[in-house]
Amino acid sequence: MAQALFISDLHLAGERPETSERFFRFLGDEATRASALYILGDLFEYWTGDDELSAADGEPLARQVAQSLRRLSSAGVSVQLMHGNRDFLIGGGFCAASGARLIDDPALVDVCGTSTLLMHGDTLCTDDHDYQAWRRTARSPGWQGDFLAQPLESRRESVRQMRARSKAVISGKPEAIMDVTPEAVQEAFRRHGTRRLIHGHTHRPARHLLEVDGMQRVRWVLPDWYGAGGYLAIDDVGGRLVAF
Ligand code: MN
Repeated sequence: MAQALFISDLHLAGERPETSERFFRFLGDEATRASALYILGDLFEYWTGDDELSAADGEPLARQVAQSLRRLSSAGVSVQLMHGNRDFLIGGGFCAASGARLIDDPALVDVCGTSTLLMHGDTLCTDDHDYQAWRRTARSPGWQGDFLAQPLESRRESVRQMRARSKAVISGKPEAIMDVTPEAVQEAFRRHGTRRLIHGHTHRPARHLLEVDGMQRVRWVLPDWYGAGGYLAIDDVGGRLVAF
């Protein structure tokens, strides 16, 4: 039976090797039995640029992840990758190295016969105005062009500063602001005319049933991997969230 697996918010980083090890085991085990693996953003804690893969002093983890994904995609599993709010600078170089295909956010795809809307989830957190303003800047070709034109070492330093700033900002924000707004969720279902939405980002894994315009819909929220981690599996019968 065809099965699609969904993960997000692994936040892989050199300083948390347990999570990377967990991910490599998942790629060598559960993922090999799937027909498709969807990575819905924040695979990495941060991404300074694809040249991290080729630089002599490049982050070894970046290369290990690309190689592990390459083994999976070469074995015939379709690997689809969406940007998150942390690794949105992943580009063609990483895709070429890993065999992953970059998909848009949002993406409407057929999953086991059901039209399914995939998102990272950050665009659903519309009450977080500061973040949405930063997102518009960081996703603009102008900002990205300027950033990527800097030497790798300066980009690493900028990312270190951005992470420190982001930590300070997040710790000062009320919990509710960091979750999706019901209006944004309804609007997404309405605009794409779909019954199923899968996203991550909020780190609040759940299966939410809701009604929009008189139609029953389901919203799956993926777990992060800061804790034990896990994934969503969907086949012809339905979906289930699996925690490790
Ligand atoms: Mn995120």
